[in-house]
Amino acid sequence: MNRRDFLQYTAALSAVPLMPRARQTHRIAVPLRVNGERLNKCLTAFDSIGRTSGGINRTAYSEADLAGRSFTLDLFRQAGLTPRIDAAGNMYGRVDGRDASLPPILIGSHIDSVTNGGNFDGPVGTFGAIEVARTLRERNVRLRHAVDVVCFQNEEGGTIGSKLAIGALSDAELNDVARSGKTIREGIALTGGDVSKLASAVKQRGDIACYIELHIEQGGLLEKAGLPIGVVEGIVGLRWIEVTITGMSNHAGATPMDQRQDAMLAAARFTVAVNEAIRAEPGRQVATVGRATITPNTTNVIAGEVVLTVDLRDLDETKLVRYQAAFEQLGRQIGAATATSFTFRNIVDSQPALSDQRLTGYIDGSVRSLGLSSQRMPSGAGHDAQEIARIAPMGMIFIPSVGGISHSPREFSHAADITNGANVLLNAVIAADMIQ
Ligand SMILES: [Zn+2]
Repeated sequence: MNRRDFLQYTAALSAVPLMPRARQTHRIAVPLRVNGERLNKCLTAFDSIGRTSGGINRTAYSEADLAGRSFTLDLFRQAGLTPRIDAAGNMYGRVDGRDASLPPILIGSHIDSVTNGGNFDGPVGTFGAIEVARTLRERNVRLRHAVDVVCFQNEEGGTIGSKLAIGALSDAELNDVARSGKTIREGIALTGGDVSKLASAVKQRGDIACYIELHIEQGGLLEKAGLPIGVVEGIVGLRWIEVTITGMSNHAGATPMDQRQDAMLAAARFTVAVNEAIRAEPGRQVATVGRATITPNTTNVIAGEVVLTVDLRDLDETKLVRYQAAFEQLGRQIGAATATSFTFRNIVDSQPALSDQRLTGYIDGSVRSLGLSSQRMPSGAGHDAQEIARIAPMGMIFIPSVGGISHSPREFSHAADITNGANVLLNAVIAADMIQ
């Protein structure tokens, strides 16, 4: 964070006005702090919903997900936020601002889980946001902007709730089946939404002042660095590239070594070449050959075809383009050397979603004001924030995941880290009030 950003942050904090209150006119000391004990108690209570011997099973639209949603609605009410479910099945609660003409600051996350997941991916950000709103109300802090807390539905099924919130889901995609076996269309009805009124749930650019999401890191960088907070620079873009390598199946005993068109050999060389290429320059870029389908996949036959996938991720879109071109070039070279041919097809293309520089500055300032330390980092996993970033300035706050483990029953974050994360969110929201 540079000095100018920090000064802007402190200026924002010192300008925080209070709601008028009988016999109390003093300014409160910033930074503010949430009630961490209350927040962590909520998370502990929530752990019983969807808990099975295999882990947390709160997959979207399941009984446990719906039970989790009513728990969350109760939490909204206890916080004094009148909850509202929109047509997409996303849940919102609001702390009013002083200027009703301004769009709200949006904070929140999700509460659904993967199959056999943990209790922290999603709920930390959702309950953390509710706790932030509750603290603002209790401390009579009234910002210029309203603060909306959101709990997006079905994040784990492909950021469905946040895609619906920006109108990025097609009618055909509503028929996709979620892990619970329900279609998204059915799920919207189950969550209290209304498919016929989806347009009413769509936010346009200008409808949200900014979005800030608190989330567990789901990796081990913060723990390794001994830092309590990660300030997310952006959510990486992703390419899934399907590579088909065509050779010729032939007898493994009767075909001389210099007369083969071995797709398996080409696939092996390509896998190594991708790994070497991605590691050849410094940076956070990653590439993985994770799947191979071999034909005929038989001991005594030279493979005639191998279909591989490459998963390629980075924050910089130009780097993704450059690496994809490099992989295609490697395929041509290896194809020429092994008498095979390579074809490439992109299965998934998602653009990087960069954090807003002002928001990362406010988050840095919030961290500093609380006497904490942090590092900038990309998010390698997808989040609702990547969808909202398409229509509004976005920022994300990470807290450590013990052992870097997530999407597992062993997923865990310490109570003190969760409290720190919510405190950082609280003071970042106060600072973000200066955004127009
Ligand atoms: Zn999540």
